[in-house]
Amino acid sequence: RLDGTPAVYHNGVMIPAGQAQVPVTNQALNYGTGVFEGIRAYADHSGGALNLFRLSDHLERLHRSARLMRLDLDLTTAQLTDLVIELLVANDTVRDTYVRPLAYKGALLPGTGFGVRLAGVSTEFAVTTVPMGSYTNPVGLRCAVSSWRRIPGSALPAAAKITGGYANNALAMDQAQAAGLDDAVMLNAGGTVAEASTANIFVVRDGRLITPPPGADILPGITRATVLELAARELALPVVEREVQPAELYGADECFLAGTGVQIAPVVEVDRRPVGNGEVGPLTSEIRQLYTDAVRGVLPRYHHWLTPVPVP
Ligand code: PMP
Repeated sequence: RLDGTPAVYHNGVMIPAGQAQVPVTNQALNYGTGVFEGIRAYADHSGGALNLFRLSDHLERLHRSARLMRLDLDLTTAQLTDLVIELLVANDTVRDTYVRPLAYKGALLPGTGFGVRLAGVSTEFAVTTVPMGSYTNPVGLRCAVSSWRRIPGSALPAAAKITGGYANNALAMDQAQAAGLDDAVMLNAGGTVAEASTANIFVVRDGRLITPPPGADILPGITRATVLELAARELALPVVEREVQPAELYGADECFLAGTGVQIAPVVEVDRRPVGNGEVGPLTSEIRQLYTDAVRGVLPRYHHWLTPVPVP
């Protein structure tokens, strides 16, 4: 902590959060030319320890996103790991925390005006941490299929976490919230289910776990991959990656969202129709418990997903 306020990393230095600023002429602010990650650190089940969950997977995705947008993120995965740990330690982090790395275009070269371009624009980089527990409704989410389609991958690669692309997700989330609901289910340009505003989606039907494939214009989430692995290995559930028609959401036995932020969040209603019997489903509960056990270090088989952070 610096001056009693949280520290953030910004362009090579640790500074108080309030001092990490961008000018209104910043290129990423104007055109959405940034990339980011959302990572969680969890208190270990044994107490007294903190673990980052699947950090290297998130940092590799950050590097891939950065390359696409010609951002010169010159820190290696090992250096980024040290930096994130250093920041958590500087902030005396002992509880569940969200970590947000953000690489973005900075100032244009002098004399180039407000050009929409990638080459010739500097890269800036920040990491912020914020305490974050579970924030979704524990009795289940009420969702609606959005009339805003997800930006097709042919227009903006779905696998990269690009700041500007999230204007699309914000419109969908806003529509859901204006209708008094919790989240939006976005369809792709072809009209099949893609994902929720900040999470992947799963349905359970006849004991099978079904989720849209990467080709459905989804962000191939790290939580999604975790769920697929846990369901197959721990529950021996048949898992199927295939296109999902919107009507299948109404006829599903169970439905849930999976993402770093929402974690495993049951969906109990879609378009004001109950999913299954309208309560959190049994397989959803089992998967949520397995996920919680994995992130909290209860399952030794998945300790390789955890990066320990020294706590005071
Ligand atoms: N889809 C979108 C659009 C997201 O923003 C996120 C959150 N990163 C996800 C899916 C889930 O990805 P992950 O499990 O890697 O957090």
